[in-house]
Amino acid sequence: MTALRTGIVTKAQTNLYEVRLDDGEVCLCALRGRLRREVGEVLTGDRVEVALQPGGAAIERVLPRRNRLVRPPIANVDRVLLVQSLQHPDPVPILMDRVLVQAEALELSVVLCLTKLDLVVDAPDRPLPEPLARLVEGYRLAGYPVHLVAAPRGWGLEGVADALREGVTVLAGPSGVGKSTLLNALQPGLRLATGEISRKLGRGRHTTRSVQLLPLALGGWVADTPGFSRLDLPDLEPEELGDLWPEIRREAPDCRFRGCLHRSEPGCAVRAARDQGRIAPWRYQNYLVLLAEVEERLAERYR
Ligand code: GDP
Ligand code: ZN
Repeated sequence: MTALRTGIVTKAQTNLYEVRLDDGEVCLCALRGRLRREVGEVLTGDRVEVALQPGGAAIERVLPRRNRLVRPPIANVDRVLLVQSLQHPDPVPILMDRVLVQAEALELSVVLCLTKLDLVVDAPDRPLPEPLARLVEGYRLAGYPVHLVAAPRGWGLEGVADALREGVTVLAGPSGVGKSTLLNALQPGLRLATGEISRKLGRGRHTTRSVQLLPLALGGWVADTPGFSRLDLPDLEPEELGDLWPEIRREAPDCRFRGCLHRSEPGCAVRAARDQGRIAPWRYQNYLVLLAEVEERLAERYR
């Protein structure tokens, strides 16, 4: 009986899995038919036990998953790095909030990275102009760590590097905000996969490319494919939306009524917190917009 060794799947392809064992060795593993039937599929990010045998390495067991993303298909994600430029393109806070709600629904921690700082201030320690200062303040009041960076100038990179040091990170954010530039500045050679077009397949059909985990020199992993490109809300009851808003989740236990939607109910602690400056008014407004959307969808279901 060979001893089993644990590792993480860094690339899952049909029938072949690249596994980085905990001692650093990388091996290509097969998956036994029995196991394939038991676990369905093995994903990038899965923790596995591998048997190294003369005939080749094989995955013997898949350890329980903490979570999984559908797009890209990846297991055991520790955090989302939401990247957004301060300018070119301008941030659209409600679109950022939609990503945050999706990440919160999966109980992922989120780190915000606002790029292109050099386009809005002359030096990294200068105050941001409005409305950007209010944007940053709102997310900090919510409890999200916010990093301001200008990758080409090396501004603010240490803080981001520190935030990614452990576990698996998935990047999110629209195209053009500087995700690739940021990764490359953190570690030269690291690039996000772009939707590669295969010439052989022709007609601009995309190659079926599997998501890959890239090792960071400082420790930790980054998925090479960004996630949360769709902005639909998860399926929710109206009362559940506030739980996905960290600053509302924090204040809501003091609301007079359980199930308070924080809209116009008397004794609402969330509105009080907004009035007292503990919740940013724009974040609260965006909550109301998404709340209406959740209610609208619910109404449609019964129509
Ligand atoms: P992605 O689509 O999110 O991966 O964005 P890219 O990394 O491709 O960057 C889009 C454009 O923004 C490129 O032309 C970059 O050179 C530029 N860019 C990225 N980060 C910064 C930054 O911090 N400051 C400035 N001035 N330009 C940046
Ligand atoms: Zn309330």
